[in-house]
Amino acid sequence: MVSSSSVDLKASTDKPGAGVLQQATLALAFDLDGPTGDAMLSGSIWNKPGYFGLGAYGPHRAVPRILDMLAAHGVKATFFTPAWVVEHWPGLCRRIVAEGHEIGNHGYKHEVFFRLSAEEQRSILNRSQNIFEDTVGVRATGFRAPSGDWHPQTASLLAECGFSYSSSLRNGDVPFRHDGHSLIEIPAKSLFDDYTAFAYHRAPNFPAGLDRVAAYTPVFESWGEEILAAVPEGLTVATIWHPKVIGTPGRALLLEKFIGELVENPGIRFETCDAIARHWSERNPA
Ligand SMILES: [Zn+2]
Repeated sequence: MVSSSSVDLKASTDKPGAGVLQQATLALAFDLDGPTGDAMLSGSIWNKPGYFGLGAYGPHRAVPRILDMLAAHGVKATFFTPAWVVEHWPGLCRRIVAEGHEIGNHGYKHEVFFRLSAEEQRSILNRSQNIFEDTVGVRATGFRAPSGDWHPQTASLLAECGFSYSSSLRNGDVPFRHDGHSLIEIPAKSLFDDYTAFAYHRAPNFPAGLDRVAAYTPVFESWGEEILAAVPEGLTVATIWHPKVIGTPGRALLLEKFIGELVENPGIRFETCDAIARHWSERNPA
């Protein structure tokens, strides 16, 4: 039997006698980047089949495994997906939507928004939304900035383009509304980014300076401790998981046990990012 954790993920950590049951809200948010990113934007990826293969492993091999796992546990997730991936794996992306998961916007080729003009950002957002609608039949309500950084104008552009929420900013644990308009932010934390522990590629070295991966089980234990500690304060946790990184067979096995234990915890409520934004907005009208 594989053990994902020495932490008891099934046990409520709510304070006894507090009256109303506190719950943490957990968004299983995957960034389905595939092979998009800086190397695709520069064109260099077409001379690096190994690097292309690392990215393509996500949609090609890992996502079907993850979808089967989510279905087994009856949990819905959010997949922030560059529209280029939607164009090249349309059947997979239609399956994501057909199985009740959310597809969020993640640019066209994972552009770094802070380097772009307002007009370039607007063009990418509208183009990718049109590809979503034409290919999977829905426009995304949410956006996650590729690479986690954005331009000072990105938030107002998102509102202008019809997005209701963003999950781009880091290191917060409660949703909030951006100043001046309706856009809701669901911040994630860098410690829930699987790249920090598990990603590795040589030539190009990426992430730079990360020359080995962590032992798997302690990473899941750390994530579990953060999620359980979010219960008494009723916090919101959004992950930054990449199918190509967390969806290898060994990690997927641990992930399945991790999710399987958390769904039994009455203190954990699983929601898509879209549902979190809607529910938060109902409680906090603009
Ligand atoms: Zn990404």
